[in-house]
Amino acid sequence: MALTQLSLNARSNPLASAEEQNRILSGTTACTSFDDVLGQSGMEPLHSTGISVFQINVGKLCNQTCGHCHVDASPDRREMMTRETAEACIHALAETEIPIVDITGGAPELNPNFRWLIEQARNLERHVMDRCNLSVLLLPSQADLGGFLAKHSVEIVASLPSCHPMQTDAQRGKGVFEKSILALQLLNRLGYGVKDSGLVLNLVYNPVGAFLPPKQKEVEAQFRKDLANRYGIFFNELYTITNMPISRFLEFLLKTGNFEHYMGRLANAFNPSAAQGVMCRNMISIGWDGTLYDCDFNQMLELPVGYDAPRHIRDFENVRLERRRIVTGNHCYGCTAGSGSSCGGSISP
Ligand code: SF4
Ligand code: SF4
Repeated sequence: MALTQLSLNARSNPLASAEEQNRILSGTTACTSFDDVLGQSGMEPLHSTGISVFQINVGKLCNQTCGHCHVDASPDRREMMTRETAEACIHALAETEIPIVDITGGAPELNPNFRWLIEQARNLERHVMDRCNLSVLLLPSQADLGGFLAKHSVEIVASLPSCHPMQTDAQRGKGVFEKSILALQLLNRLGYGVKDSGLVLNLVYNPVGAFLPPKQKEVEAQFRKDLANRYGIFFNELYTITNMPISRFLEFLLKTGNFEHYMGRLANAFNPSAAQGVMCRNMISIGWDGTLYDCDFNQMLELPVGYDAPRHIRDFENVRLERRRIVTGNHCYGCTAGSGSSCGGSISP
């Protein structure tokens, strides 16, 4: 996978526009429209079944520029959640009993309000997850980050696409593998991933190319063996995630002539039982500017919650949102192919 050094946005690439991405996704001839297939499976319209995850995307700034990034995050992005919007998130959260707060980005740790959000969510006795790219832990400005996360019992969900340096670096940037290993060792020293410590370290694997992930349990077993033997690293669970055909992965697919083939591959592997369990059915996703979405992917395609649901965190109404109809499109094949894919890994065995 060719690595880009700048975001689509900084390169003024047409794919920086959500409208352009939606046009390409809806124009594919490789598959029947996702909504039609959902209807044929008796699942359309798709509705939320409740909200158990309050996902906050605090912005697009990242210290990496990975080739497959669905956020188009990079050091050149400046979109960041303000304290005012972060306060609106905590205010809305406090009015609910949603048990899990999932903080993502970009590299969420680079938002100045990241630690405040964690402290507030922990004060409300919610479980907090940090979607961490690992290398951020080695930045001089973040020297105390691991200790802070451990002190607040934050679950770490860390990306590592391969146990091989070349493959990881090809997708995530030169030197990222080595930094990821050092960061994982640092987390283990703090107790993360260590049995009975209560500090959870989960890994995320995604394919380094235009194919579906292998079986989650098989990848987990291989990673467990390789990381322990080669680097003495331990972790709790591994999640496999399918690359979404949007943003920089969409650029890769188009550049390499793989787009139609990949869409066909996802659609041919459509799994109704994965569709039943898609993550949008039990989460709400909040954008850096407070706009509400069904998931982080809809967020990047600028498809806010629809069908009369409140659209901004200021107007958060749990009762209306937890029964909302989900906004779907052809990108949803990414969540429903094969064993399915979500922020918590595969959906159906
Ligand atoms: S995939 Fe994650 S680490 Fe990589 S650029 Fe995107 S947000 Fe940053
Ligand atoms: S992309 Fe996935 S999580 Fe998002 S709306 Fe579609 S099926 Fe749901």
